[in-house]
Amino acid sequence: MPKEIQVKSVLNKTKKRDSWFLDDYTFNPYSSCSFNCLYCYIRGSKYGINLEQSLSVKTNAIELLDRQLSNRAKKGQYGIIIVSSATDPYLQIEKKYELTRRALEVILKHQFPLHIITKSDLIERDFDLLKQIEQTAILPEDLKSLKSGVMISFSFSTLRDEVAKVFEPGATKPSNRLVALEKAIGHDFLTGVSLMPLLPYISDTTEQLHHAFSTFKTMKVHYLLPATITLFGDDQASSKILMLNAIKKHYPDLVGKYNKFFSTGSEMPYFYRDAFYKKMKELCEEYGLNDGIIKAAIAKRR
Ligand code: SF4
Repeated sequence: MPKEIQVKSVLNKTKKRDSWFLDDYTFNPYSSCSFNCLYCYIRGSKYGINLEQSLSVKTNAIELLDRQLSNRAKKGQYGIIIVSSATDPYLQIEKKYELTRRALEVILKHQFPLHIITKSDLIERDFDLLKQIEQTAILPEDLKSLKSGVMISFSFSTLRDEVAKVFEPGATKPSNRLVALEKAIGHDFLTGVSLMPLLPYISDTTEQLHHAFSTFKTMKVHYLLPATITLFGDDQASSKILMLNAIKKHYPDLVGKYNKFFSTGSEMPYFYRDAFYKKMKELCEEYGLNDGIIKAAIAKRR
């Protein structure tokens, strides 16, 4: 059972808008995450090895969000809210608590735009509210060209269910996420894919990349946001140790490579990152996919 907690703030202003995610604010209805991805950046001793066991529900989130958005709206400080940045908005417990759904009602009331990032198909439940937000949200002055108050990004580290079972054991299967993605596109939402992170030598192989890009092309995905993996920490609950243990157990042939890359640092070496981003650019061009949300929004209207 998740803990129920009260918090002081649920709407956080970001210091600087990220050019990929276009975030002005973040909203997290839950603390920690039962999807339990081994590579997750929130991992560390604070939450323990099993993120599900430290899951908390912010019981005053809706009341606080209402107050905080009302204050921002009075000052005309409209901006894109990321739902969510440090948990998934559609965890299994969302079916019971409906905090995300109620937050969407509040966001609709105050006419804020949003960017949902999820690994779940439960988002389909809220397409009705998202459609209303899309049509009524007030975009910040410098992002008026988006012309859409809703962006939906489905997050994948792999398209293979059996691989996801190892690295993101609590999340909706990729095959089900793809069905939800197709439905979001069918509802004409500005819909993309966050490939963060692709798993070195597992989901970034030439064969896997062509399979992923051709799948997204066929589905007419509007944008792709790919990134390399970053792993932190050295305690048993850290993303680095959990990933290295999983590699040892499930991909023993890759132990040497992963140990070499992550024994001293948290990022893949420069030669890999450089080749990775060049490859992503090439593949986006080859498959006619946009590598940014703004570009995608403009292309979608043509
Ligand atoms: S879904 Fe996101 S927040 Fe949750 S564990 Fe996975 S990477 Fe972390």
